[in-house]
Amino acid sequence: MVMNPTSKFVKVVCVRCGNNQIVFGKSSIKVKCSKCNKLLVKTGGGKIKIKTLVREVLR
Ligand SMILES: [Zn+2]
Repeated sequence: MVMNPTSKFVKVVCVRCGNNQIVFGKSSIKVKCSKCNKLLVKTGGGKIKIKTLVREVLR
């Protein structure tokens, strides 16, 4: 899933361990799962690429 630049928070679920984690939609850093260290979000060109399941987009 590729998201346009946004200032939303996105709740993602780690596909490996099921951990819920909230990431900022405009983050410029990679986000890893706080439990198992799986890469959840990649970045590039001002967009984030979510590499795991999106549970909810928070507004
Ligand atoms: Zn995990």
